[in-house]
Amino acid sequence: MTKPVFRFAPSPNGRLHLGHAYSALLNADFARRFDGRFLLRIEDIDITRCRPEFEAAIYDDLAWLGLRWEEPVRRQSEHFADYRAAFLTLKKRGGVYPCFCTRKDIAEAIACRKAEGGEPWPRDPDGAPLYPGTCRGMPDDEAERRIAAGEPHAWRLDMATLQKLVPGPLHFRRFDREGREDIVPAHPRRWGDAVIVRKEIPTSYHLSVVVDDALQGVTHVVRGQDLEAATDLHVLLQALLGLPTPGYHHHGLLRDPEGDKLAKSRRSKSLAELRAEGVTPQALWRRLGFDP
Ligand code: GLU
Repeated sequence: MTKPVFRFAPSPNGRLHLGHAYSALLNADFARRFDGRFLLRIEDIDITRCRPEFEAAIYDDLAWLGLRWEEPVRRQSEHFADYRAAFLTLKKRGGVYPCFCTRKDIAEAIACRKAEGGEPWPRDPDGAPLYPGTCRGMPDDEAERRIAAGEPHAWRLDMATLQKLVPGPLHFRRFDREGREDIVPAHPRRWGDAVIVRKEIPTSYHLSVVVDDALQGVTHVVRGQDLEAATDLHVLLQALLGLPTPGYHHHGLLRDPEGDKLAKSRRSKSLAELRAEGVTPQALWRRLGFDP
């Protein structure tokens, strides 16, 4: 039997905090208990926000925690060609369309529809308003002309068409700390026509993560609850691209005393700061509920 494969996949856009340490330790703990492999992946597609010093700090912080991972580490910024190939497959299947809208265009279209309708505008699981479909159904020749003219554009999933391409309900396996599994339905339509290739980056988180998990043979995804709903889209992409669907475990998020989730953007204390205060890796393991 092949070994289970786990991965920790941070983005080098800030210093790691306790929440990352928990996710990394949980992955490593699963790998140890299930005689599996533990991979580290650097999710640095967002070249505007990712920085080499943050990547170096990830290796440093994780080594300080006492973790070991397999080499070479996959760095997403070196694999845009793989994401492009996956995108072309989606395009060939007819499940995507180019979108030229700016944020302002989208906000205005929604404001207009709201004024007509009165119903609350639907939002995706992250709370963002669903795309109003402005560019869906644009004639091919117009889209091609605008692309050829160099007009900035993203690519969106065409949910209505995809529904027909992938008939039947979608599911994934969910596993718990003991490895017990159950089957959970996925509902990608609640994301509306989600962006699958961004305007300023030739891929998206969803596309890259699905391609990489498959290429790296990841069998068990362990990540925070904030990404649980995104699994809907991941399962849909796996079905469209003919990729295997791993099992998923979404762990609870660590919160600060005010009850907000820890985040780089909220300046939660970094592992480096805790380390500078004299916290030992052993103390940190215990604090996070693991046996050092
Ligand atoms: N790169 C993502 C993050 O740092 C995690 C992606 C995943 O585990 O699927 O939040």
